[in-house]
Amino acid sequence: MAEITAPQSPVTAEQFADEIREQLKYTQGVTVEQAKPADVYVATATAVRRHLMDSWMKTQTDMVNGNTKAVGYLSAEFLMGKQLENALLNAGLTDQFDKAVKALGFDAQEVIDAEYEPGLGNGGLGRLAACFIDSLASLGVPAFGYGIQYKYGIFKQEFDENGKQVETPDYWLANEEPWGHIDYNRDQKVSFGGEVVEENGKKVWKPAWSVRAVPVDYMVPGYASGRVNTLRLWTAKSYDEFDLLTFNKSEYLDAVKPQVEAENISKILYPEDSTPQGKALRLEQQYFFVSASIHDAIRVFYPGQDKPDLTTFPNKINFQLNDTHPVIGIPELMRVLMDEYDYDWDTAWDITRHTFNYTCHTLLPEALEVWPSKLIGELLPRHLEIIEKIQDQFAAELKAKGIADGTAKDMAIYTGDAVRMAYLATYGGSHVNGVAELHSQLLKDVTLKNFSDAYPDKFTNVTNGVTPRRFIKLANPRLSDLITEGLGTDKWLSDLELLKGLIPLADDDEFVKKFAAVKQANKVDFSNFAKRKYGFDIDPNTMINTMVKRLHEYKRQALKILSVIADYADIKSGKVSADDVMPRTIVFGAKAAPGYYLAKQTIQLINNVARVVNNDPDVKGKLNVYFPWNYNIELAQNLIPATDLDEQISQAGKEASGTGNMKFALNGALTVGTLDGANVEIRERVGAENFFLFGMTEPEVSALYAKGYDTKGLSREYYEKDPQLKAAIDMVADGTFSDGDKDTYKDLVNDWLTKDYFMTLADFRAYMDIQAQIEETYRDPMKWSRMAVLNVANSGYFSSDRSIEDYLERIWHTGPLA
Ligand SMILES: *Cc1c(COP(=O)(O)O)cnc(C)c1O
Repeated sequence: MAEITAPQSPVTAEQFADEIREQLKYTQGVTVEQAKPADVYVATATAVRRHLMDSWMKTQTDMVNGNTKAVGYLSAEFLMGKQLENALLNAGLTDQFDKAVKALGFDAQEVIDAEYEPGLGNGGLGRLAACFIDSLASLGVPAFGYGIQYKYGIFKQEFDENGKQVETPDYWLANEEPWGHIDYNRDQKVSFGGEVVEENGKKVWKPAWSVRAVPVDYMVPGYASGRVNTLRLWTAKSYDEFDLLTFNKSEYLDAVKPQVEAENISKILYPEDSTPQGKALRLEQQYFFVSASIHDAIRVFYPGQDKPDLTTFPNKINFQLNDTHPVIGIPELMRVLMDEYDYDWDTAWDITRHTFNYTCHTLLPEALEVWPSKLIGELLPRHLEIIEKIQDQFAAELKAKGIADGTAKDMAIYTGDAVRMAYLATYGGSHVNGVAELHSQLLKDVTLKNFSDAYPDKFTNVTNGVTPRRFIKLANPRLSDLITEGLGTDKWLSDLELLKGLIPLADDDEFVKKFAAVKQANKVDFSNFAKRKYGFDIDPNTMINTMVKRLHEYKRQALKILSVIADYADIKSGKVSADDVMPRTIVFGAKAAPGYYLAKQTIQLINNVARVVNNDPDVKGKLNVYFPWNYNIELAQNLIPATDLDEQISQAGKEASGTGNMKFALNGALTVGTLDGANVEIRERVGAENFFLFGMTEPEVSALYAKGYDTKGLSREYYEKDPQLKAAIDMVADGTFSDGDKDTYKDLVNDWLTKDYFMTLADFRAYMDIQAQIEETYRDPMKWSRMAVLNVANSGYFSSDRSIEDYLERIWHTGPLA
């Protein structure tokens, strides 16, 4: 029997059933007989919250009274996923829940399905924030997640009859939401606009308007740590509920206008992927949540003090800036310290620079946020003054370091016209980190090279990770049980490096067969899930080959779909006999930013390739393509455990890290990938022989740019000389996937043949070759499964617990509460 250390509440299933019954009655006012699964879900959530309450309160008290520095994770996105199962797991109530709802006459899965997934993030960056706060709590480190409770999260994706993406608003709060506790008594005032005047030799900001930031608190329960941290998401409310004077004149709509405008601030999450939009509202959002959070931290750590000694602030809390979105916090803390607490510039600067650290998530220079000075000046005039002064100080510092004037100019935080937020973050904080080894190196060598030369000690790396609780235990219970059986303990859930103990089991045929059986059962489950949710008929006896992530040219969904088209063309032309084809089901999941034209064309193409291929008797059962819409955490949790082959095929040097790649490796999928982001480290750990590598390296990509690949139209040469590639592109151009219409994809085709910035065509041949090798390997099931076991066994490093331990050691210099 394996050793079980998972949290286990002493509460019995009968007692838990009574608690749910009580919540149904006293909170929802329904009898068990009247209750629907959604009622039982809310009642259970409320009951679980009660179980976590004492730990939550104790964690907060210990945090304020203890001597352990806390972490404030400032992030515009938290992609949390559904909460119920995670809360039950960490409260040690999973078994009791299953039995209790059964005793009440309900199906556990139906109750779990009743939860509506909040979509308060775009993709990887938001999910990283969610994994990190899970790990902070699980390690017992006092922490706040600080962000925005958007009324509308990321849009819901649907496909129209032509296969085009259609975006609809995701009004997630239309459903009862039992997790967040709105706390009107702990609000903060956030002001905008107006002007700065001098009064008694002091700068005084006279803002034009204010909004009320009200916190909505979510518990973040740790796994087996006894700790529960807080995710504090701010919602914007108006101070002027309505203007009675206007109302009396019965101009009703005008009367509620201030309220509508104030509440606009937290209304919608911008659906974007790394390209900034100069939207005033976006800057308002950023300032809104950061200003509220800074004031909140002062209130929390110096309770009841009018004149707190804020020189100790950096010993109380360190703020991590998750990308550039919260960087306005740097001038804001300066302003608060000088204008609200009377510190001089130098003291304020010293506090500020020891409080903030910055995580960079990109390499594309154009993706680093830059705000027009004019906009900042209008919205935050005092902050613009402070930024100018920071620039003066910075310029003087560079001069003193002997940095050449031209270089210093290139490094300017404030250019006169614009404010470069990444530069402000790099200068204004203690540490800057990239999110994978290769990415951190490229930050130092390219994107932030001048800064790295001037401040080499600031730069460090923390490779991303994912939480094993959600992405193994909850997503893949069968594999979790097998791992526990294989290791003789379930301790791996809080110490993922223990997975290494599975290495010898890769040579144990019995274990490998069990592992293969787990994968097969997961595939059957996914097939059923896909039937139920999407109406798809997925054959679980085919290879499941998955590419899920946001749609972006650099991620190269185009490369994948071109390879599928090439395979299809080979069968249609008779070059390859359908009998020789290894049956494969290709599953895509991806949202495209609504204004991203080529990404949306790619979605349309994938959908139409799916339509044509799935309905063609010549390839039936051999080549199958599915595109479940609205990729989210729920789909990820169902699809990843069922995947045989995972696609991580971005152009080398473009994906900062990726975390999808980690989730797949930990669930026993093999990866086909480029040497990009964390793929490099995954391959290093799982072994080159257990990873399907292909394509150009980052230096090769740079060399090809230097030859003029995108500017001289060199992609056409690849098209001309590779008949398989030519056949595939011609098939897109000739209307095969658009009912004969040759215009539908003409912009996509034209881009491939004239520019192809992300070098899809240049990597096509290598990609087709590795796919042939993949098929050969897959035809030997024992070999494939052994490789998969070794992927799981060697991926323990990619736990977000390890990432957080690296942050603690290299950046935050703090640790768990005593
Ligand atoms: C993990 C995850 C991502 C990030 O995927 P990448 O492949 O790393 O880009 C995006 N969306 C969801 C829903 C995820 O779970």
